[in-house]
Amino acid sequence: MIIAILKEPAFESRVSLLPDEVAALLKRKVTVWVEPGAGSGAFCTDDDYVKQGALLRSAAEIFAEADLLLAINHPALTPGLKNKVLAGVYQPLYHPGLMAGWAVAGHTVFSLDMLPRTTRAQSMDVLSSQANIAGYKAVLLAAAQYPRYFPMLMTAAGSIAPAKVLILGAGVAGLQAVATSRRLGAVVEVFDTRPAVKEEVMSLGARFVEVEGTADVSQAGGYAVEQSEEFARKQKACIAASIARADIVITTAQIFGKKAPVLVTAEMIGTMRAGSVIIDLAVSTGGNTELSKDNEHVVHGGVTIIGDSNLAASLPFDASKLYGKNVMNFLKLIIDDTGALNLNFGDDLVKGACMLHDGAITNERLNALQA
Ligand code: NAD
Repeated sequence: MIIAILKEPAFESRVSLLPDEVAALLKRKVTVWVEPGAGSGAFCTDDDYVKQGALLRSAAEIFAEADLLLAINHPALTPGLKNKVLAGVYQPLYHPGLMAGWAVAGHTVFSLDMLPRTTRAQSMDVLSSQANIAGYKAVLLAAAQYPRYFPMLMTAAGSIAPAKVLILGAGVAGLQAVATSRRLGAVVEVFDTRPAVKEEVMSLGARFVEVEGTADVSQAGGYAVEQSEEFARKQKACIAASIARADIVITTAQIFGKKAPVLVTAEMIGTMRAGSVIIDLAVSTGGNTELSKDNEHVVHGGVTIIGDSNLAASLPFDASKLYGKNVMNFLKLIIDDTGALNLNFGDDLVKGACMLHDGAITNERLNALQA
């Protein structure tokens, strides 16, 4: 089997696999092809890949002959291309039309963002490896934009109070944002609808603000669920009080497969002092504030609202390294010892990540969207 690493679109600096992983792949008795320039955004040259045993091939050669295509973002497949296997992060529930087209072309598609969030899946959980980076980078971005210090300082020239950071959503990105803010010396408050995260938040030295009446998440596979209107009203009132005293707000609240909840209104933003910064990490699914725009800095009453749905890509080497490890661990499930594709749909991880196979949509939620 030939596995090809495609060059990502111009906006993407990450790559599916770094050169270091090529040798491990070759041991699985597959051939590895790389599109020239694939690793350049992550500071890896074509030569780095060749030294590890990969062969350079053009996109046209790859599309004609490779079996499995590794591409983080949707690759621009040439019309008429048929029966490829693709692995990446395709947000299929937000792109049902594209998936339907790929199904007609007979492609088999694994979208790693759809893996179940189980213990066994942790080593291939691309959402976690990338969200961790986004949470870290969100805090650095906020600190760089903020016109004041993060830590408390007592100097001969006077004292500086620590920055107050408010974090909405304590999943992987949110918890990393708490840890990074704390390391920089900020005082941190956190909201989440899952009471299970309270202890983790407190162990990182932040305050967890509880709102009563959160919906039961026991059947949601660890994910958050949509909340009642009454809860949303109570939560908004609590958030409004916290926001009025916050200097930095980092929002990460998402609901799997749905639009992100709007937790911060323009009116709330109006109560923040000028120079404050909001980073919205949920912007790719609609955003947690009324004013966020993806890849834009919006300024409202002196408060800067930064929407960036691909912050992980701003650390392209480590993001690619961790992503590549996730991919390698997943490939072990679908490639046998002879280097052939061997799909066991009895494995919940293979089934969970598989969106399309043999011209059919195999994921129930994606199928329901086609109706
Ligand atoms: P996410 O990106 O889906 O959401 C971020 C956070 O926002 C979550 O903590 C969620 O509870 C919170 N949220 C949603 N609606 C909210 C609202 N209205 N107000 C406040 N907060 C709100 O989360 P994630 O980081 O992808 O993690 C999702 C779940 O998966 C968590 O339970 C996490 O522990 C679990 N997880 C499991 C694995 C694994 O075992 N493979 C790996 C990582 C995460």
